Amino acid sequence: MYEHLFTSENISVESTCEYKHAGLYVDESIYVPNQQALRTKEFIPAQTVLSIQQCALSTHRTRTSIQVTELFHAEADDCIRFANHSCQPNAAVISKYIDGAAYVTILLVSVRDIIGGDEIQFDYASTETTLTKELLFAPCLCNSPLCRKVLTGFSELTPTQKDQVAATLPVASHILKLYV
Ligand SMILES: [Zn+2]
Repeated sequence: MYEHLFTSENISVESTCEYKHAGLYVDESIYVPNQQALRTKEFIPAQTVLSIQQCALSTHRTRTSIQVTELFHAEADDCIRFANHSCQPNAAVISKYIDGAAYVTILLVSVRDIIGGDEIQFDYASTETTLTKELLFAPCLCNSPLCRKVLTGFSELTPTQKDQVAATLPVASHILKLYV
């Protein structure tokens, strides 16, 4: 449903094209003690592009990487790196990889209206098949009514949780392959 955001201007095979929404900043998390978070000074309507980045590929999953295909991961800059997890997020990370390219295009997009001062969050299970040992099954402090209580990738979700994520968020194509 967000495919239209990948225009010829914001996707290329080798580019350093970057865009960051003017209202974004990094500050203390509202939800997680002693953790930094991506936040917005301004109101942001649903379906606004918050960041466009071209990121190099790696085969290594880290605490902050974004999984972009079954094999590849990417380290995005501060704008996406500081976006924490929520089980009912206000944003989504979506990526587009052209086979053979050295870079992947990663977008951060609001999925609902976000009020000024709020934290920008996405659901880690919408991009990651699993998480690093450090993060997997760590307590989730997102405080949303649908909180799953622990951090996981998509493969560790219950069937009901998978249904919920797939029905409400733009989910990566490598994740959809796991959703049968
Ligand atoms: Zn949660």
